[in-house]
Amino acid sequence: MTDPTPSDRLLDWYDRHRRTLPWRAAAGTCADPYHVWLSEIMLQQTTVVTVIPYFQRFLARWPTIHELAAADLDDVLTQWQGLGYYARARNLHKCAQVVSANHGGEFPTTESALLALPGIGAYTAAALTSIAFDKRAVVVDGNVERVVARLFALTDPLPGVKKTVKEHADRLTPDRRPGDHAQAMMDLGATVCTPTSPKCDLCPILAHCLGRQQGIAADLPRRAPRKTRPTRHGVIFWLQRKDGAVLLRRRPPTGLLGGMMELPGTDWREGEAWREAEARQQAPTEARWRLLPGSIRHTFTHFHLVLTVMAGQCAQSPSGPPSGTWVKREDFGSQALPTVMRKAIDHAMAGTAKS
Ligand code: SF4
Repeated sequence: MTDPTPSDRLLDWYDRHRRTLPWRAAAGTCADPYHVWLSEIMLQQTTVVTVIPYFQRFLARWPTIHELAAADLDDVLTQWQGLGYYARARNLHKCAQVVSANHGGEFPTTESALLALPGIGAYTAAALTSIAFDKRAVVVDGNVERVVARLFALTDPLPGVKKTVKEHADRLTPDRRPGDHAQAMMDLGATVCTPTSPKCDLCPILAHCLGRQQGIAADLPRRAPRKTRPTRHGVIFWLQRKDGAVLLRRRPPTGLLGGMMELPGTDWREGEAWREAEARQQAPTEARWRLLPGSIRHTFTHFHLVLTVMAGQCAQSPSGPPSGTWVKREDFGSQALPTVMRKAIDHAMAGTAKS
């Protein structure tokens, strides 16, 4: 009898220790592709714990891909609030429309056809092929990357070592139950082969692990030092009408936070903070602007942002109305406002309540 392969051991372990997740099918059945796709898009850049309530809310509201396709984009962006990376939400909506209109609501079952859909990159195509259709594909997320780097003692740093990780992950992937293999690797990374202090004593592939044998597992994968993020500065304008409504505007459809709502503001520039007089020139209208004490900090992938807030009032019906939408405070909840703007609104409300 031949010795069990790492994948045999992993599948055996998975049958006993698999995580119960709302998008996962019961053992021995295939997951709903809509659920897998939705969860995988949401899981990019964030954790399972964060995603679960979003996933449940999306499904309760749009139980099928046809319903998501027919949804208003603003509703989708509003429900997405807090997950960040809003381009993903826009692509999610676009993808639902394409699958609904061009594929009868069924996701295509090959990686190449999946890759042609909006917002589906190499990772998501592989995950769907494998998990939803149980076809062989090489699925490498952050968890898998860590397990593979340790298992094969890959000491070159990320991101350079990614190609080698993928080659090893490919060799590990079996023809039998490829979807379960992919999920077993993810679960192992999430629960046993954790970023710090891997629980090697509980690991089903301990006997194969070169990183463990060499005593370097916990230090892997190595990472090239991150470039430091620059800091950008901006000023935003909290303009209130006499009836309490506040001026919001929509960001351009593409680019950072594309299509989301925001408080009007200056550009976000690197280097020097804005001087008050200079910022006023970009205010949405003339008003007695007042700089509120303190600032808001927010970090995007490529930069830190520091925002200050200037507050002003204008007449009930200002002549030459500034462009944008007047929104009552109680209606902020239904606006597609990104986290950075929610922070700015909290800051403005606290600052103006004191005066
Ligand atoms: Fe990770 Fe330890 Fe298992 Fe190696 S033996 S894969 S380091 S948990």
